[in-house]
Amino acid sequence: MIQNLIEISKVKMEKVIIVGSGPSGLLLAHYLLRRGNRYQVEIYERLGDPRLAAPSNTRSFPISLSTRGKNALRKIDGLLEAVEAKGAKMQSSILHQPKGKQSLLSFKTPLIAIDRIRLTNALLSELIEKYDSSQFNIHFDCQCTQVDLKARQVKFQKQDSAEEFAVDCDLLIGADGARSAVRNSFLNAGRFELEQKYFRDDYKSLYLPKDKNETELQPDCIHVWVSNSDSRIIAVPQPDGSWSGTIIFERDSDEILGLTTVDRAREFFDRNFPEASKLMPNEEIEALLERPIASVLTIRCNRYHYEDWVLIMGDAAHGVSPSLGQGCNAALEDAAILDALLDEYEDNLAEALPEFTARRLADARALWELSDNAFPSSKLLFMEFLLRRAVAKTMNKFFPQWFPLLPSDLLRDTTIPYAEVLKLNRGWVSKVKKANGVLNV
Ligand SMILES: Cc1cc2nc3c(=O)[nH]c(=O)nc-3n(C[C@H](O)[C@H](O)[C@H](O)COP(=O)(O)OP(=O)(O)OC[C@H]3O[C@@H](n4cnc5c(N)ncnc54)[C@H](O)[C@@H]3O)c2cc1C
Repeated sequence: MIQNLIEISKVKMEKVIIVGSGPSGLLLAHYLLRRGNRYQVEIYERLGDPRLAAPSNTRSFPISLSTRGKNALRKIDGLLEAVEAKGAKMQSSILHQPKGKQSLLSFKTPLIAIDRIRLTNALLSELIEKYDSSQFNIHFDCQCTQVDLKARQVKFQKQDSAEEFAVDCDLLIGADGARSAVRNSFLNAGRFELEQKYFRDDYKSLYLPKDKNETELQPDCIHVWVSNSDSRIIAVPQPDGSWSGTIIFERDSDEILGLTTVDRAREFFDRNFPEASKLMPNEEIEALLERPIASVLTIRCNRYHYEDWVLIMGDAAHGVSPSLGQGCNAALEDAAILDALLDEYEDNLAEALPEFTARRLADARALWELSDNAFPSSKLLFMEFLLRRAVAKTMNKFFPQWFPLLPSDLLRDTTIPYAEVLKLNRGWVSKVKKANGVLNV
């Protein structure tokens, strides 16, 4: 016993810097801190404290957490419950077609739908509640500007100040999203390959206030409205009865770029999304016009670690398009995978970090393929998608090897590795890829 205590006291506390307080950085902080006094965690975040901003003034969007993401949260005591309390349980989705026809898809396992800001607020509040400043600190308005890989030093710049300051650490985590500054430092580190691609669609955040009964939307349900104009709206309920959503449209769409006045926007929504339009007061349309158009940068690279002290994860390592709703689920799973590797290699970073790259690479590449090509852009192929899905749902029970569930269904209900999901659906994904490629020319 005394020997054990002496051994524990001999372990040096490692200083960890996490760049970015998105879902992956915050969840990883939970995992590291619950390993006792081994790690002291400092998070540096480019933006201000999200708990101080009104949700409708932030550029947030709804995120669906499926089995994979929920499992990663569940491993930390009380975290899944804290997230569920800020989100809503979704039992199904409803596709609203242009002529008013609706198709309902019931889920085997409910999803949690939660606005990104509410998700990060839940993860952050739990950290602050559980750990004091001797173990955990978060620095807002601090942008990582540079990583000196040789000197093992990270540079930051405070908002409203031209001066940079440098910080040393034992472990640096780049959880700083698709435009990662930490990842950029790898570019000079030899044999690092990076592919960046903008997804074909852009989006704007959308907020629908509490329904005043003009239109009754089923509450425990993700609503998707498709239009004849290549745009669609996705909305999920918030605990206060309002709806958080996004309007997604083809990049450089003349129709969307032409929405410069409230009258034009109202006419556009009445024509394309009459039901959603009834839920949008003029103030929301005005706010929507002010919000910038956002694009999605997707990321593929060949390595996630540098030596024994830097690791990139989440969107920084493998940002994907939101079409399958897996980016955040994969980012949360990254944190759980690193935790498992730290167990396996007894916190030996020189072994655990390269192994993270080795274990994650094939799945991350498969996720990129799946996210880009699980849903067809062509209307004809979309009909085939609906038919395939219905057939697979019935026949899979009897002949699973011949009728695999489609990626969207498999990813929602299971934690089957992404590479395996791609293998099961290779034929369909290749067909969609070919068709989407032709359409995108
Ligand atoms: C419209 C839309 C819908 C989506 N829907 C879903 C969904 O339903 N399900 C799902 O699983 N995923 C979804 N995603 C994807 C999901 O949002 C991301 O995969 C997830 O947020 C990634 O988490 P992250 O922590 O890796 O990075 P991020 O969430 O991007 O967080 C990175 C953080 O780092 C900070 N940062 C960036 N640069 C610096 C710097 N230089 N210095 C300091 N801090 C920095 C940023 O401010 C940010 O807070 C969606 C994405 C979009 C755009």
